[in-house]
Amino acid sequence: MDEIHIKQLEVFAHHGVFPEENRLGQKFIVSADLRTDLRKAGLADDLQLSMDYGAVCGEIQEFLTRHTFQLLETAAEQLCTRLLQTLPLLRSIRLEIEKPWAPIGLPLKTASVSIERGWHTAYIALGSNMGDRKAYLDGAVEALRKDPSMRVEAVSDYLVTEPYGGVEQEDFLNAVLRVQTLLPPHELLDALHAIEQAANRERIIHWGPRTLDLDILFYDDLVYSDGVLNVPHPEIPKRTFVLQPMVQIAPFFVHPVYHRTMTELLEAIS
Ligand code: AMP
Repeated sequence: MDEIHIKQLEVFAHHGVFPEENRLGQKFIVSADLRTDLRKAGLADDLQLSMDYGAVCGEIQEFLTRHTFQLLETAAEQLCTRLLQTLPLLRSIRLEIEKPWAPIGLPLKTASVSIERGWHTAYIALGSNMGDRKAYLDGAVEALRKDPSMRVEAVSDYLVTEPYGGVEQEDFLNAVLRVQTLLPPHELLDALHAIEQAANRERIIHWGPRTLDLDILFYDDLVYSDGVLNVPHPEIPKRTFVLQPMVQIAPFFVHPVYHRTMTELLEAIS
């Protein structure tokens, strides 16, 4: 991906674990690689289609002087989040904050923290078969839309489907959505659990009725499994109620394990 580089912007600010650092302040040096697609800006010779590095430097300076953090890690984390949320064209960022006057009582050229953060594409499955099912799905979409770490891009139609797993219960309402997220996979799962809990989901019977069920289907092209999280969700190739809405919003998305499109996987089970 194309990059815009900001090298060694000097900012006088008050971050540090020692009270003197917070009181007296010191010099920080910020460097950033801003990743975006610069093709359109380059062809059109139009700043509106790119990111104004002068404005970005102003934003960095303003953010680091307005806040006081103990850790460079926190300053870097929060500054990345801020830039990713406010610059619509920014896909990912590598940010380094140096502290050349770090008060450690030894001759040191500089100490620094460097992190890389960005937007990731996730597909989420939504399901409900208790109470006002449509209201539960609408509420989940709304909760994701309100979260500044998420950008909901596409929501499928809601689909009425018969229950899965042999337990006698109401029909389900199912959907999928595509979201850009700043959260890593486990934090995304935690965020989905918080939305489920707010909808009073009761985990009583396995495969049983639920007010709201939210699953991570895909996270970029990640293939990952531990005791808590499996990505892609292992049941996708067996579930018409996931594949049908996936075909609606992303027919050509390729499953990173089976190397088949959503359309091909749906054809294989129907
Ligand atoms: P369920 O009751 O079917 O919603 O299962 C929820 C549990 O499955 C969660 O507590 C997760 O730890 C686990 N899990 C594993 N992989 C995933 C995934 N891709 N999306 C959501 N939950 C998952």
